Amino acid sequence: MLSVRKFMARFPDEKTCRDYLFNVRWPRGFICTKCGKNKFSHIKTRYLFECSNCKTQTSITSGTVMHRTKLLLRYWLLTFYWVASGERCSARKLSKTLKLQYRTALRLLHSVRHAMLRADQNYTSAFWMPAKPNDHLLLKKARLGLLQRAESFIRKYYRHTSKFSRTIYFSEYWFRNNNPHPSETSLDKLIKGGISTIYTRNEYRIQFGS
Ligand SMILES: [Zn+2]
Repeated sequence: MLSVRKFMARFPDEKTCRDYLFNVRWPRGFICTKCGKNKFSHIKTRYLFECSNCKTQTSITSGTVMHRTKLLLRYWLLTFYWVASGERCSARKLSKTLKLQYRTALRLLHSVRHAMLRADQNYTSAFWMPAKPNDHLLLKKARLGLLQRAESFIRKYYRHTSKFSRTIYFSEYWFRNNNPHPSETSLDKLIKGGISTIYTRNEYRIQFGS
């Protein structure tokens, strides 16, 4: 994995970050999130892409976990880097380092956990889905064991968490468990999860016809 100095040298300004994230989000070129067409015009002054077909304006971050962010993209990338490096990254530490308000840093980290959820999405069906009464005993035991391990990870890593945000910490446990760090791959996965479009159910139906 690159050193943090080299990583930041790769992203010296916001334009580099935008260009980089554009290529990750739309590797085969822009796709309108509303109608799925490719032609667009660039509104350079506001960093927006306007679909030539339906006139929907999209920014690089809209519809992703970074939706409507006012933070610098460099801060986002640095946070992704920090989390992927495996170092303990608390909201307090992050707010100190980036000179952000504590609440902002907390929100930023929660969004990164959402990106983890997106990066390793398929786990939901494996263990976290609500148990059914006719589930096999082995499956119930496995689920319980995994939940206990996740809980002890959360306690060890964060000491305490509110019940409210527990699911999102589970996704962090799952991601960290499956993606050994520090590694380029987990960073790539995390950034991909962070910049991918989150479909609402309706949009998903239009797109995939289910
Ligand atoms: Zn469109």
